Amino acid sequence: MILITGGAGYIGSHTHKLLASQGRHCRIFDNFSTGHKDFVKWGELVEGDLLNPADLNRAFVGGQIEAVIHFAAKAYVGESMENPAKYYQNNVTGTLNLLTAMQAHGVDKILFSSTCAVYGVPNQVPITESEVPRPINVYGRTKRMIEQILEDYSDAYRLKYTALRYFNAAGADLDLEIGERHQPETHAIPLAIEAAMGLRPSFTIFGQDYPTPDGTCIRDYIHVADLARAHQLALDRLLAGGDSLKVNLGCNQGLSVLELVQQVKELSGRDFKVVQGQRRPGDPAELCADNQMASQELGWKPQFEDPRSIIKSAWDWHQKENH
Ligand code: UDP
Repeated sequence: MILITGGAGYIGSHTHKLLASQGRHCRIFDNFSTGHKDFVKWGELVEGDLLNPADLNRAFVGGQIEAVIHFAAKAYVGESMENPAKYYQNNVTGTLNLLTAMQAHGVDKILFSSTCAVYGVPNQVPITESEVPRPINVYGRTKRMIEQILEDYSDAYRLKYTALRYFNAAGADLDLEIGERHQPETHAIPLAIEAAMGLRPSFTIFGQDYPTPDGTCIRDYIHVADLARAHQLALDRLLAGGDSLKVNLGCNQGLSVLELVQQVKELSGRDFKVVQGQRRPGDPAELCADNQMASQELGWKPQFEDPRSIIKSAWDWHQKENH
């Protein structure tokens, strides 16, 4: 049995669906603060909070847990700067509680949702895993701290971990059973799609004076189904005795905000108002993954390499959600 914390969330539910389709038994642990009950379709559910050790204990009782996939976290950069306590508590203390419960129940393998936000402003793009992490926001710092805790636990105890450093997750399940549903929504692709659907009056570009070819920020968008497959491969690697690892998950393909807006317009066939806004604090100009390590260590390659295919699947999901 695989325990998936945050399995009712965006990336967690896609990973759960993939593992369940392969006949693997999963147990979801979620407090539904940002997850969705209708995204838990395939496995057992234990409703609970990482900050409550008694809840966590229930998650490990009954059925041997082979490994944990740990998605549950707070993940808004802006909110992390305004309310750091919420982030240190939920992300860092929550993970420490999880590791304590794992030790108590003899579970020694964990996949951890890390982020390219651990890199801050990188010295080199595409970013390799040897780039020294220097996060520039509280969210990224909490994720980096957890990586360091995992390093120390891995050195001192029997624990093996894989920290998966996600670039920009986007898109949705092709069956449209699950998809991206954030409240509030802050991400560029869903916001541009909602503008194209007339659900928002406009889309604001945060800064057009960056040192990039068109002046807008460049990001590396990765389809959530490709992320799910990377988790499955990383899980198999750990279960086969693989060593601890930190690895980037991105497509090694940069897309600027202006290009993204243009592609949403072309795909939807709808024009919408685009407003020039201020830079958003904490946004590096360019983030793009070197993904050779994922290829070598996990045997992973993205199947959705063209950003249009990622945007198309997000578009289809938003059509369904808003019907
Ligand atoms: N962005 C934007 N307008 C928006 C939301 C995002 O211009 O309404 C930009 C943001 O500044 C960043 C890129 O789009 O450069 C991707 O932002 P998102 O929040 O989707 O992901 P992040 O890179 O912050 O994880």
